[in-house]
Amino acid sequence: MPYAGEESAITTLSTSFTIGDIVKIKNPQIIERQPESDDEKFKPPVNSQTAEGLTVNLLVAVREIGCIQTVKTKDGREVKKLQITVFDQSHPVFHILIWEEETANFIVKYCSKRSVMLISNIKVSYNNYMKEMIGTSGGTTIFIQDPDIPDARVLYQYAMKISLPDDVIQNESKYSDSTTVYTIEQIIKLMNKSEVNLNEIQGTLQVMISSFDIDSTNKISSFRCPGCIQVLEKQGDKCINGACEIGSGMKNLPAEEMYDIPLSLADNTGCIERCLLLGQVAENLLGLNVQDFLRLSAEDKTKLKWNYLFERMTVQFKVTQPSVGNGKYNFRIISCKKCD
Ligand SMILES: [Zn+2]
Repeated sequence: MPYAGEESAITTLSTSFTIGDIVKIKNPQIIERQPESDDEKFKPPVNSQTAEGLTVNLLVAVREIGCIQTVKTKDGREVKKLQITVFDQSHPVFHILIWEEETANFIVKYCSKRSVMLISNIKVSYNNYMKEMIGTSGGTTIFIQDPDIPDARVLYQYAMKISLPDDVIQNESKYSDSTTVYTIEQIIKLMNKSEVNLNEIQGTLQVMISSFDIDSTNKISSFRCPGCIQVLEKQGDKCINGACEIGSGMKNLPAEEMYDIPLSLADNTGCIERCLLLGQVAENLLGLNVQDFLRLSAEDKTKLKWNYLFERMTVQFKVTQPSVGNGKYNFRIISCKKCD
């Protein structure tokens, strides 16, 4: 919960109790932040300013690993920089900058999304450019992957359970080239292979849409969280995904009604039944937004359907790892275009 006020008042307050204390809040005044609000009042420095300049130990899970960049310093030297994003049960997004090439290489090579790391001796400071508190690794910082301590196991279980938004991960595997063309048979085989241990497989399918019931009474839209695309029951519902900026309360945006069209794709090797054409991907294909679609007459919807049903399409897809307990790979369409 951010607390806004005079600096002296904040310092007095933040030194009067610590994490774990029970604090009673009397007569709070609650102001809801408007979406897109730029008001500084709602963006106070978090982590408390008392952490500024401190060297701390962090137990965190990896949310995203960037790619190593070469940066020129003011005195003309070339140095390597890697930015990673981590989270824990209390905080969905925390950025860490790594300036040692060896450490950066180690992280890119051996760590993956949801890895748990114990980071000792990392400096926490306010970054003027990013406008937030970040961690910066220095010469004495040590990264320990999967530390054998109970808290790490608890965090790992948490990290495996929550769904993370689809962050771009630098995956150098051959499966990350979206121009590789697969047949449906190959994709179904990959999705059923339990030993495949990939974050994701990307590629292209040359297929035909074999079912596309946009003119029936079936639902073709749903309310979803605009942050993590999680389905919400109804418009007023709030996302509860702790790893999502909206679910965690860092951003406040209402549920969005988006396309959620079930369709089947087929080629001469097989069929993927009932995958989903979601949100912007569907809007790009149909050429109109969900509100305009819902206003179409039944006849116009049928006409629109026949523009695509049994037509040859180029589909770019992503297959992502199953969330624990479910065991099913998740097939997602990331673009769908009619073949010329
Ligand atoms: Zn969300």
